[in-house]
Amino acid sequence: MQDLSRIVTDIAAEMREAPDRGTVADYIEPLARVDPSRFGIAVIAPDGSEHVAGDADMPFSIQSVSKVFALTLALGAVGDQLWKRVGREPSGSAFNSIVQLETEHGIPRNPFLNAGAIVVSDILLGRGETAETIGEMLRFVRGLAGDEAIFIDEAVARAEQDTGFRNMALANYMRAFGNLANPAERALRVYVHHCALAMSCRQLARAGRFLMTGGVIPETGHSIVSPQRARRINALMLTCGHYDGSGEFAYRVGLPGKSGVGGGILAIAPGTASIAVWSPGLNERGNSQLGMLALERLVARTGWSVFEPRGG
Ligand code: GLU
Repeated sequence: MQDLSRIVTDIAAEMREAPDRGTVADYIEPLARVDPSRFGIAVIAPDGSEHVAGDADMPFSIQSVSKVFALTLALGAVGDQLWKRVGREPSGSAFNSIVQLETEHGIPRNPFLNAGAIVVSDILLGRGETAETIGEMLRFVRGLAGDEAIFIDEAVARAEQDTGFRNMALANYMRAFGNLANPAERALRVYVHHCALAMSCRQLARAGRFLMTGGVIPETGHSIVSPQRARRINALMLTCGHYDGSGEFAYRVGLPGKSGVGGGILAIAPGTASIAVWSPGLNERGNSQLGMLALERLVARTGWSVFEPRGG
């Protein structure tokens, strides 16, 4: 294997030249104005070494990548009870699809669809206050990354709230099936705020470290989840982390990963690396065009795919 820092630097240089950068999400103004020429990558190894290149320290809207952290926190709160209200199957549908909800009685296919993440937000709320739940989520992510500078971009949260008619429809629809304990507005408030978390690639890769090391933050030794739960969250990321592009991501990259419409992707090479990439242009499935290409090249050069035969 070539030197990792070299690989990461090379990939960033190649991405600078890439002709097809995809299309930046334009459903809300704060996302629409992000510069499509941006690209960042951060790779963190279990020994704490960090290999970064490009715009790796520039915060961006992590959007649906936050669903991984929300799920982790909710599993910590209610355990496997959560799976009575959310499934664990890939959907083959767009992130905001409503069709399956009707035939499946208001139980979303998985926690990474918008509907699933709205139920997770409702679980996080429990009987608590909205603002406190949002604060708890922010503290959790800051703790995972070991970085108090991580913030929620209020302009993004407000824009999501003002235009989130479809998410409101999903939430109300699930409430009609009895799968939302709180009013739709409150669950959505939690949801849009965790989607509005702003983080850099370095912060995101740090926040994902516990998934690379069986649930433990290597730097502190602090256990976030059991090894079994870390494995299972990785399995969900592999099968459901890229909406209806999850099969393609597994085929091309072969790592558990979660994307967001802000152009970020968190990918985990279990035992080996926590990786974050960011480039705001998206492909037709809503996944970062260059983020996927960069991960494909990283895995090709390192042999990190989970489908790679391991030497014995
Ligand atoms: N906040 C976005 C929405 O609900 C998240 C979408 C995403 O990143 O997939 O539309």
